[in-house]
Amino acid sequence: MIAEIFSVGTEILLGEILDSNAKYIASELASFGIDVYYKTSVGDNRDRMLNAIKIAYERADIIIATGGLGPTDDDLTKEIFATYFNKKLVIDDKSMENIKKYFKDPSKMPISNIKQAEVPEGCEVLINDNGLASGCIIRENGKIAIILPGPPKECVPMFKDKVRPVLKTLTNKTLVSKSLNIYGIGESRASEIIKDLMLCSKNPTIAPYADNNQMRFRLTASGANKSEAENILMPIVDKLYSIFGDYIYGEDEDTLESVLVNTLIEQNYTIATAESCTGGLLASTIIDIQGASKVFLNGVVSYSNESKIYELDVKEEDLEKYGAVSETVAIQMAEGIKNKSKSNIGIATTGIAGPTGATIEKPVGLVYIAIAIGDETICKEYLFKGNRKKIREYTVVTCIGELLNLLKN
Ligand code: ATP
Repeated sequence: MIAEIFSVGTEILLGEILDSNAKYIASELASFGIDVYYKTSVGDNRDRMLNAIKIAYERADIIIATGGLGPTDDDLTKEIFATYFNKKLVIDDKSMENIKKYFKDPSKMPISNIKQAEVPEGCEVLINDNGLASGCIIRENGKIAIILPGPPKECVPMFKDKVRPVLKTLTNKTLVSKSLNIYGIGESRASEIIKDLMLCSKNPTIAPYADNNQMRFRLTASGANKSEAENILMPIVDKLYSIFGDYIYGEDEDTLESVLVNTLIEQNYTIATAESCTGGLLASTIIDIQGASKVFLNGVVSYSNESKIYELDVKEEDLEKYGAVSETVAIQMAEGIKNKSKSNIGIATTGIAGPTGATIEKPVGLVYIAIAIGDETICKEYLFKGNRKKIREYTVVTCIGELLNLLKN
């Protein structure tokens, strides 16, 4: 089964919006084992859209289209698919009711909204639980069109709730997925190590995803039933554990911070943070996790030299001698916050997030992370690439990942 993803809207062609629907749908289709060879982006134009549909059906069995279901004249998607399949557009009563619910006084509903209740005759209607325009599924002569609204907050839930079950019946398979979440090795290096396995493993599929200095492999197996799919999945999961065991910190919904908080709770540790360049982001990331109150004692945003002296007992002469962005100061910050907070662990960040404030010796992206734990303090120097936001985010991920590694060992 081959699918083509169709993103409709001139805004996409002008680069005004990022085509996140296509990204989402592509990863969903991969997990169903449905091949995607082409993605099409097409503007709100009758002839070009019709032409693109004709081309797509020469190379695919299913088109999944998003966008162009609105009330205005340039919202054409359902109309053009109806034309392609030689069907009339008809008003769907349930869709009409759904639209009227959105208006306090349905009699004041603009006439143009009626268009959003129109669907190609004989299709399966997908009521929009998060917006006005209904989606639909057309099946004709072995070809399938799945048409969804453009706004991701409408498209994604409709896909999850109403399209996934249809895809499941189409592939007639039960799917089982597992994510292995990895810190400490980059996506390209990790993918290189298992390049052959990834290429030849069709069931389960192995897909790498990278985000903010961490990555995951998502494995998806299909079988006649759940236990068959699991039996196909688990040997490859075990194989990846044997290769990347040192780097896998969790599975599925686990995040670095959730695993950190749970590990701190299990090992009976408390933590306090002293942040310069991350400005509270580390504390906030930890505190986002339920249960953080059991382990998180104190967090100081110590941005100025005065604050480092006053709040964290950093020595003034060392600030002058080595500068605020230095190993010496990072170590004193971590030890200072640990002592002042009476926690078991103190963790500190100091660095140059840029774009200003850099020198030849201390470039943008230079960051020191110090972790004081027990009687020991470990400090490492990093050079992160990216803008101010990325450097701060990488720093936080690295703090959490490195601390987790220390706790594991
Ligand atoms: P509406 O009923 O709100 O008009 P629609 O189904 O007609 O929705 P569009 O008009 O094409 O969809 O797009 C509405 C908005 O949805 C866009 O402005 C954009 O913010 C978002 N959107 C559309 N397509 C995509 C896409 N492929 N990826 C991410 N966002 C999208």
